[in-house]
Amino acid sequence: MVAAITPFNFPLNLVLHKVASAIAAGCTVVVKPAEKTPLSALKLAKLLLQAGLPKGALHVVMGTGPDLGEPLVTHPLVKKVTFTGSGPVGYKIKQLAGSKKVTLELGSNAPNLIFEDANLDAAISSIVTGGFAYAGQACISVQRIYVQKTLYQTFLDRFVPRVASLRVGNPAEETTDVGPLITEEVAVRVEQWVQEAVENGAKVLTGGKREGAIYHPTVLVDVKPDMKVVCQEVFGPLVVVIPFDTEEEAVSLANDSDYGLQAGVFTSDINRAFRLADKLETGGVWINDVSTVRQDNYPYGGVKRSGIGKEGVKYAVEDMTEVKFIGVKLL
Ligand code: NAD
Repeated sequence: MVAAITPFNFPLNLVLHKVASAIAAGCTVVVKPAEKTPLSALKLAKLLLQAGLPKGALHVVMGTGPDLGEPLVTHPLVKKVTFTGSGPVGYKIKQLAGSKKVTLELGSNAPNLIFEDANLDAAISSIVTGGFAYAGQACISVQRIYVQKTLYQTFLDRFVPRVASLRVGNPAEETTDVGPLITEEVAVRVEQWVQEAVENGAKVLTGGKREGAIYHPTVLVDVKPDMKVVCQEVFGPLVVVIPFDTEEEAVSLANDSDYGLQAGVFTSDINRAFRLADKLETGGVWINDVSTVRQDNYPYGGVKRSGIGKEGVKYAVEDMTEVKFIGVKLL
């Protein structure tokens, strides 16, 4: 039996990654969705049962992490725990799980690198989407943008007005680009991190404003590596832009992180692209696209404090399966 514990963001997709793989692997699965967003998991279970999934193959249990998640992780029938969520909870689960197999898909502060030979229009469009879609509430959301010095001012001149023109509001309205954060408490936390950065010398080029649970799309410059907006996971509509001189410096800045989920590299030099793909300490690298892209046909998962193990259907199925050796001696 697989225990699948999922976070609030992408409440259907992140459940599906685990449930579809468990069904394909022939495992029964108990899902515990995030307490803030459980309804799409219930709807999915209903549809799967209607479609003929045998009763008992899938259960959805609803409740808080400590009340339900912990007993689920430690239950003797559960042989594998697959978790997507925050680092502190993930590492607690790993401890509780003892000898069970565990996959952890955790957070990041994704770096995206733009070199002077990049297609700037394409890079800016991808970065606006990749930094601010879902109000930045994606584990692979663009957070740290490193731009080669020769391009830095041109990048800002073109990027900042694009971010400033994003429309905030009700996500149910077709005209809204950026909706609220999951709770007002989270928006207040982002506001505090920005205030702290500004007090220590950072400059807000656009945004930097909160209205209830909405935090306006924000671009910060003149940041320092130890500021929370740089070294921790913001999980909100905020990016920092940092200049670099050389390829070596870009790699060293990007790798200066506890996290390592995905990175984006914009360059027209294929040799540089492969050098960077090799040197960046992340589970995945997109060339000429942003870190925010995820597709299910490739191995997905982080290194460092971004996680353990891989998803992507083939890889998740492998992880939910025991390889057994059978020897036959011919007599
Ligand atoms: P969270 O860690 O607070 O909660 C995730 C799940 O864990 C919820 O279902 C929660 O109820 C449960 N939980 C909490 N305490 C528990 C405990 N003691 N034992 C067992 N289960 C427990 O995360 P969140 O705030 O819902 O989601 C945001 C986080 O998820 C961010 O850090 C983000 O980066 C991460 N995330 C990672 C990926 C990825 O693919 N790597 C994808 C999406 C989100």
